[in-house]
Amino acid sequence: MTHALMWFRQDLRCADNTALFAACESRDTAVTALYCLTPEQWIEHDVAGVRIDFERRHLATLQRDLAALNIPLVLIKASRYADLPDRIASLVQSLGITALHANRQYEIHEQVRDRAVTKSLSSLGVDCHWHEDLCILPPASVLTNDGRFYTVFTPFKRNWLVQLQERPIRLLSVPKARQKSLTQSDVIPEHWGGLTSAISPETADHLWPVGEAHAWQRLQVFIADDVALYDQKRNYPAINGTSTLSPYLAAGILSARQCLVLAQQAAHLGAAARAGCEVWISELCWRDFYKHILIGFPHVCRHQAFKLETDALPWRHDDALFQAWCEGRTGYPIVDAAMRQLKATGWMHNRLRMIVAMFLSKDLFIDWRWGERHFMQHLIDGDLAANNGGWQWAASTGNDAAPYFRIFNPTLQGPKFDPEGEFILRFVPELKGLSGKLLHEPHSKGMSPLFARYPRPIVNHAEAREFTLAQFKALG
Ligand SMILES: Cc1cc2nc3c(=O)[nH]c(=O)nc-3n(C[C@H](O)[C@H](O)[C@H](O)COP(=O)(O)OP(=O)(O)OC[C@H]3O[C@@H](n4cnc5c(N)ncnc54)[C@H](O)[C@@H]3O)c2cc1C
Repeated sequence: MTHALMWFRQDLRCADNTALFAACESRDTAVTALYCLTPEQWIEHDVAGVRIDFERRHLATLQRDLAALNIPLVLIKASRYADLPDRIASLVQSLGITALHANRQYEIHEQVRDRAVTKSLSSLGVDCHWHEDLCILPPASVLTNDGRFYTVFTPFKRNWLVQLQERPIRLLSVPKARQKSLTQSDVIPEHWGGLTSAISPETADHLWPVGEAHAWQRLQVFIADDVALYDQKRNYPAINGTSTLSPYLAAGILSARQCLVLAQQAAHLGAAARAGCEVWISELCWRDFYKHILIGFPHVCRHQAFKLETDALPWRHDDALFQAWCEGRTGYPIVDAAMRQLKATGWMHNRLRMIVAMFLSKDLFIDWRWGERHFMQHLIDGDLAANNGGWQWAASTGNDAAPYFRIFNPTLQGPKFDPEGEFILRFVPELKGLSGKLLHEPHSKGMSPLFARYPRPIVNHAEAREFTLAQFKALG
């Protein structure tokens, strides 16, 4: 009997999992699943405690789902990626593994790690199969006419949609149960190293329940109830206008293909839902686009701007201003509410991510990499490709980024996207009792003793805007 090892990474699910499906292709193959804990590496990569805790909670449910397929889940606890080739080689030898299957990851360190694992296992005569699974269409399959990676989203999306029309996506089923399992599952430890979640276990369970069944249900509810109005509701953080599926997609509890197929089906059901579905599918396309950028332009994984010339900008490195931003004490209610949402829930609405990222990089002129890192350290859906793409968009250093002269006015963003201040008041209770213009500019009529606890704006937007424009213009 052959014995395959399925290494789970950003694909913590049984359904529509390319590598798992391939590992289970032959009924006679026994399969053991592997998950690696690498706490020091996570810290080095700024992975948020809330994200690790989410995976830890979810892994127990994945272990149960795999047990029903006769696939035991074993763990390797190492410090860093560099330790893994030897540790996996020892496991492979002790279990008599004949092949390893995993879905490819696109970040630089992950690729170096996988090449080292291939080398180590090939010396033992064990084949490694790296499958394409994380994107709807894999990197290098959506290229310009002259074979280059796209740097602009709109033509990328056009090509992406044509390919999907020509070759519709078919979802893979959960593999059939194995006849036999050849090893025992490991006990999943309660603590996974030095990272602790910033949100309480009760809040985490309430906001972000785990399990593939839950994620699938969340997707179905969104498609049934909300996707039709997504195009109209997605910019208003006070309402549930978006799917909140990003943590499940980032950990691979759902595949982006599953999301796409359900949205395509909903779009076919009636014209009323079509616009919402199309805009939502566009967001899934942005997800692919930014992952492709990692492969086409790997320098963005090395803390470099996509547009290298913008690395010459004299970004400010001001700890006090940065801390005020991190803690939601900037004196701009919409910015502060957003930053406090991140701290309280591990997640932030997309419109707000754009507002706070632009505020940090354009109003405070603080290095966008500081913000990118803070996001990674706090987001439950932290994902290098999407996060880096979003930050470089806001800072005008990225591919297809906001032009440098497009600078949101943080005072106007509040009335525009949270007109009643409902969202702001949820996270900035100091402002209770205010409404209308005063809620969005609490100190505009001088300092009221009632709101003395709420800070004055830490920066004058008009002056900051002029300063930032001058820095970009000086680049030539
Ligand atoms: C500065 C900044 C940082 C960001 N950091 C991350 C991050 O670390 N992880 C992350 O998953 N997303 C990130 N995004 C993208 C986006 O904000 C989130 O994906 C979205 O808010 C998640 O909420 P949702 O699941 O309700 O999204 P929906 O609106 O329901 O969209 C569905 C899915 O599409 C994908 N998606 C949506 N918008 C984008 C986008 N602009 N870029 C890439 N994928 C997208 C996500 O997987 C999302 O779950 C960032 C955006 C900005 C501006």
